[in-house]
Amino acid sequence: MTIPFATDRVFIAGEWRRPHGGESLLLVNPSDGSALARIARGGAADIDDAVAAAHEARNGAWARLSATERGRILTRMGNRVLEAADELARLEALDVGKPLTQAKADAVALARYLEFYGGAADKLHGETIPYQEGYTVLTLREPHGVTGHIVPWNYPMQIIGRSVGAALAMGNACVLKPAEEACLTALAFARIADEAGLPKGALNVVPGLGDEAGAALSAHRGIEHMSFTGSVGTGVLVQTAAARNAVPVTLELGGKSPQIVFADADLDAALPFLVNAGIQNAGQTCSAASRILVERAVYDTVVARMAERYRALKIGPAIADLDVGPVVSARQKEIVERYIGIARAEGLPIAAEGAIVADAPAGGFYVRPTLVAGLSNDHKLAQEEIFGPVQVVIPFDGEDEAVAIANGTDFGLVAGLWTRDGGRQLRMARAIRTGQVFVNNYGAGGGVELPFGGVKRSGHGREKGFEALYGFSVLKTVAIRHG
Ligand code: NAD
Repeated sequence: MTIPFATDRVFIAGEWRRPHGGESLLLVNPSDGSALARIARGGAADIDDAVAAAHEARNGAWARLSATERGRILTRMGNRVLEAADELARLEALDVGKPLTQAKADAVALARYLEFYGGAADKLHGETIPYQEGYTVLTLREPHGVTGHIVPWNYPMQIIGRSVGAALAMGNACVLKPAEEACLTALAFARIADEAGLPKGALNVVPGLGDEAGAALSAHRGIEHMSFTGSVGTGVLVQTAAARNAVPVTLELGGKSPQIVFADADLDAALPFLVNAGIQNAGQTCSAASRILVERAVYDTVVARMAERYRALKIGPAIADLDVGPVVSARQKEIVERYIGIARAEGLPIAAEGAIVADAPAGGFYVRPTLVAGLSNDHKLAQEEIFGPVQVVIPFDGEDEAVAIANGTDFGLVAGLWTRDGGRQLRMARAIRTGQVFVNNYGAGGGVELPFGGVKRSGHGREKGFEALYGFSVLKTVAIRHG
């Protein structure tokens, strides 16, 4: 397939420019290992230009628009994303290795973020505060100014929608650094924004390596807020760099999220969620349910029924749109297979593996989804984010032990609870330390309205929903003394 736009350019001030260094990076199609496209290898000089262009927009055409006009532009962008959803889905499938249906859902989610934030742009107001006689005090909600956005490769469209969408709604001008492994939809998004009439410089996109373009962006003095989504280690680097300039940072990091199944659960309802949340996007999801905690009375049944589903999984090229695609890169495949190797070497019970289809190209980065049973929570496989299609099943007895195991990792992103007992639902939801708890579901269909973020080493700050609009704005207090 030909990629329908120049990918070896950076998008700055509404123009497609060659990066200063003149260098490029090769994107690889994870489904067969072939060369997919050359993308620009932006560096510090390109980031300087992008930040300057964003400041110009913030002080110029973009700043002069009313909130309602900003909202209309975002809504137009959302409509264009919907029109281009099939093309975007195909690009994402080729680039990330995500099955086509999942990629299409991401494109639709991007459109929905733009629709939501377009509609919300003029709905956030300040307050008047009753104060001393002779004063009128009010608050104004204002943009930070220029915001930096560093995103990973696993859900580029969704993460751009929730962070760039909210930042633009509040009137910020954005510099976006997509991941070097997958950035075709980020570049397509720039083209769509331009066509929808977003003023020049309000969105700048600079692909490049993390330790070049990413590091330059997070350390830039011209950035006034940084939104980072990615791994814990990189998040710490980004926050440290931003802290030197006293720049606020939102961190959306990794997880080791549990789904907790009690003996009174509706297992027929739970089963598809237990497995899908582990294998979706080949397990490369921050909120993947990589730990399944099961009350001992139903432990054998749940393992057997999950194993049955695993054995039915088909793994193959993204475009073939099977249950599971390849992982994103040869490196990722090696990392995931190292963990599976540990399980084998230690003789842990491998409850089931999915099957790679016979005609999957030999050069693709396929990993067989693997269900490891009978683990204790202190095992490496239960503690570390594997970021591949590997789930572990851990038995427990009673609520207290379930809470202790659920909370017993460094992470705190998502938890799922399966129980019919209303009191237990509330007790558990309060006792679990995560940013979100889903009861008798997992992910609530990913609604853009639902605030999302982590506690502990899963990060801080909230994106999605209205909450993101607070994060991408600052409050100014105005006290008027009128005698
Ligand atoms: P990563 O940290 O390696 O890379 C993420 C981004 O950071 C990329 O754009 C990369 O180029 C950039 N980067 C790398 N080094 C940098 C540096 N020194 N300075 C600045 N930027 C740098 O993460 P990844 O492997 O691409 O993504 C997977 C991770 O992201 C997982 O841990 C996953 O859980 C997490 N994630 C979290 C969420 C969430 O909402 N909490 C969503 C998706 C992914």
